[in-house]
Amino acid sequence: MTDLININNLYVEYTSNKGFLGGKQIVHAVNGVSLSIKEGEILALAGESGCGKSTLAKAILKLEPAKSGCISFAEPKETEKEFRKFAQMVFQNPYASLNPKMKIFEILKEPLEINTNLKKEEIKQKVIEKIEMVGLDKSCLELYPHEFSGGQRQRIAIARALMLDPKFILADEPVSALDVSIQAQIINLIKELKEKYKLTFLLITHDMSVIKYLADRVAIMYLGEIVEIGKCKDVFNNPLHPYTKALLNAVPQINGQTKKSVLKGDLPSPANLPEGCKFHTRCPRMMDICKTSHPKETGANHKVKCFLYQK
Ligand code: SF4
Repeated sequence: MTDLININNLYVEYTSNKGFLGGKQIVHAVNGVSLSIKEGEILALAGESGCGKSTLAKAILKLEPAKSGCISFAEPKETEKEFRKFAQMVFQNPYASLNPKMKIFEILKEPLEINTNLKKEEIKQKVIEKIEMVGLDKSCLELYPHEFSGGQRQRIAIARALMLDPKFILADEPVSALDVSIQAQIINLIKELKEKYKLTFLLITHDMSVIKYLADRVAIMYLGEIVEIGKCKDVFNNPLHPYTKALLNAVPQINGQTKKSVLKGDLPSPANLPEGCKFHTRCPRMMDICKTSHPKETGANHKVKCFLYQK
């Protein structure tokens, strides 16, 4: 598989208010991320909230500037229009992401009117094609968003993301706002779109069971770093990093219990990063070296950043 997107040593930081005490602080949201997203795959990005997943996603979509490092694309996208045709996003909340005052037809035709020179009839055909691609009937085009269920709205949001025939879709927690009974339908739709139309997805989620079912590869993120990355089957069957093990231990079991979690304390603030391995303050395998030195990434296809695997 060829690389569609290549991220090299990316750093993203921003300034935020300190809260009641006032003053400003620098938030180190993404800290030296290097990874590639391969054409036709679903790469999942997992980690606790606040680990930098969404900031990395925004940087890929050029919505957040990088402090340093670079993101390159298989075919360079010089203009904003070219980039929007290449990359689109599906948001977590289909209730908030669709304009309630617009009919579905108006919502779907908007990206075509802004970014293409298609004629009226061609736009209509394209809208019908996309709404059918996501499993809805063209009769729904005359309705408003509030006339649909959550699952149907997420299908409409996916249709809108498909309007410009993008190669890459960033799906940010695409099922977490939906009822459990509906989640499987949207997960299956994403799988079908990937397989039928060779689309590439970056799936951002904290739900390890969604990742196991849907993704080809998974990257585990902790305090702005990728600490483990590999094929799903390798990472799920043989997790290496203590943080990945803790995340997998926290997945609820069929009996409603979770396995004994080994994760201590809360995620440290990205405004105040620990020295050494960033996971050392919570790691059950911590050694002296972990407090002062930063582990390098090791491995070929299944990579991990941890002193336990460094020779
Ligand atoms: Fe734990 Fe040390 Fe590995 Fe970090 S480098 S994950 S602290 S064992």
